[in-house]
Amino acid sequence: MGNNNQIDYAFKVKAGEKIKLHEYDPNFTSGLKKEDAAAHFAKYSAELEELQELLIASGSHSVLVVLQGMDTSGKDGTIRHVMSTLNPQGCRVTSFKVPTANEQAHDFLWRIHLETPQKGVIGIFNRSHYEDVLVVPVHGLKPEEDVERYYDHINNFERLLADSGTIILKFFLHISKKEQLARLKERELNPSKRWKMSVADYKERELWDTYQRYYGEALSRCSTSHAPWWIVPADAKWYRNLAVAETLVEHLRPYRDKWKKALDERGQAAIKELQAARARGEINNNHS
Ligand code: AMP
Ligand code: MG
Repeated sequence: MGNNNQIDYAFKVKAGEKIKLHEYDPNFTSGLKKEDAAAHFAKYSAELEELQELLIASGSHSVLVVLQGMDTSGKDGTIRHVMSTLNPQGCRVTSFKVPTANEQAHDFLWRIHLETPQKGVIGIFNRSHYEDVLVVPVHGLKPEEDVERYYDHINNFERLLADSGTIILKFFLHISKKEQLARLKERELNPSKRWKMSVADYKERELWDTYQRYYGEALSRCSTSHAPWWIVPADAKWYRNLAVAETLVEHLRPYRDKWKKALDERGQAAIKELQAARARGEINNNHS
């Protein structure tokens, strides 16, 4: 822990690892204090901004960030804080709600595939195809045998995206049941947050243990080297933001040289074209 060269603020789920969520402390802060975190966060934000510029310019990859977590776990807050430094032209946020009739009339990945980021773009999923192995089995919305097949479909789908140049990172924002209650209460008491309240939040809360079990299942069965899951301790909002920012940066940094090279090559090709056009007299050289 604490080594700057290592991804260690969030917990990576290794491929094939069996995850028991109760073994992860939602309140873990890696020995950091909130006061110290701000400087680290600023550093990662700046680097993320720079990496995004290279991603856009090189145009060889896309990035897909999947955010999952119980109600109030901070999916919206993460998008607001961690992604606020990004260039909006290269970002696309999609929130997945209860499927519409049209979406229901297709396979479960159809609406997801439509929203995957094109090259140069960072796509952020606020909820995702994982709802189909979470809310769906928790409420028995589809036959068990169907859901059982979804795990393979998800893994194959993510492999397809990765093979096509998508860098995939999946974050499970891990909060405690106690912290959720505090946040629900806060929503109720704070007039500016009331709009987010819903009866469903309290009803879903009663299914906490079942949700945790299905989350454990999804994390265990769908974490791969090309599309890893990260468990983010999320009771402390500042730590959650820092952990997501750090993981993103550490994961994208290895691409920096390749992206920089592609950018330089494109720059050189553009210069050559310009020089050739000038030599052919196609461009007025006198700029008067
Ligand atoms: P919110 O994130 O508060 O806007 O709520 C969106 C709701 O849509 C959540 O209750 C999700 O569980 C639900 N939802 C998202 N995807 C699906 C899905 N595939 N099937 C059923 N419900 C879903
Ligand atoms: Mg909600």
